[in-house]
Amino acid sequence: MSSITNGQPVLAAARAPRVRGRLLDAPVAGGKRVLLAAPRGYCAGVDRAVIAVEKALENFGAPIYVRKQIVHNIHVVSTLEQRGAIFVDDVTEVPEGAHVVFSAHGVSPAVVQGAADRNLQAIDATCPLVTKVHREATRFAKQDLDILLIGHTGHEEVEGTMGHAPERTTLVTSPADVDTLEVRDPDNLVWISQTTLSVDETMETVRRLRERFPNLQDPPSDDICYATQNRQVAIKKVAPQADLVIVVGSANSSNTVRLVDVALENGAKAAHRVDYASEIRQEWLDGVETVGVTSGASVPEVLVQEVLADLADAGYLDVETVVTAEEDLMFSLPKELRRDAEGNPDERGLGGRVKRLDWQN
Ligand code: SF4
Repeated sequence: MSSITNGQPVLAAARAPRVRGRLLDAPVAGGKRVLLAAPRGYCAGVDRAVIAVEKALENFGAPIYVRKQIVHNIHVVSTLEQRGAIFVDDVTEVPEGAHVVFSAHGVSPAVVQGAADRNLQAIDATCPLVTKVHREATRFAKQDLDILLIGHTGHEEVEGTMGHAPERTTLVTSPADVDTLEVRDPDNLVWISQTTLSVDETMETVRRLRERFPNLQDPPSDDICYATQNRQVAIKKVAPQADLVIVVGSANSSNTVRLVDVALENGAKAAHRVDYASEIRQEWLDGVETVGVTSGASVPEVLVQEVLADLADAGYLDVETVVTAEEDLMFSLPKELRRDAEGNPDERGLGGRVKRLDWQN
């Protein structure tokens, strides 16, 4: 049940009903079990961004416009849509003077300016760990360094980061890209990265960059965020023991898709991504004894629990949690939301700190 004031179960209506026993015909193997990776699911940046939209709806009323998907999860987006959020691709689609929330993936200064030009009331839900990368890009550009940004073409986070130093930034999408890179000055380069990449592939890209550009400078710290790294470490522990890994999350979620890759690279015999339990195919379970389960950083835990329920129906009743880290990071709400509409301290913000939503669990 949501802790939002209207007390509605905000997730319930957005998903198809689960059909119990749907997977019961899966051939029974001895010792069926589930290895449940931990950490998994919501990270602090996603939690904050989703609460930001909820708080905006609560404080200012519907509709609240959101530029791009607030987080890359279709269930979260459709749930918020039902509550009055309107997702748009561009601030030009938002009526003059309306409230608009910038997504967790961040925006370029041009987008901020575009919102200001339309007198929009902007609420910036950019994850602070993405903001950190933006600041690095700005600082390196001021230092006259050329920036090699490791990331995925067209990803919103990459577009936002490149927008902070457009003249200085070159995108590197994979280790294979390195050989064909053209740079202005090979001795004046620094690398940074998208926050949600595969750690191993990124380190391989950096290794190849350094081979080609020995004077390449490092950022002060890793840009791949704690949540992405922790979820990859956990699935690495599960994968070698798993006949099948199920990753819950959406197709446009970078960190989710990386979890599938990491599972396969680390010994899982098969790995599939699903948005919902109903997408699990019976044939995936043929002859499978051990199923690994994890979820991306934008996935509410309720969706994982539905996967576990379907697996239980299919005989996977023994669930062992494989814990590789504990997470307790929380971020302050965006400054525009730290007080309620009357200016009183916000009980859900707890003095500016984000409290985890109970509807995730
Ligand atoms: Fe922030 Fe990482 Fe979560 Fe993205 S995945 S919102 S960078 S904590």
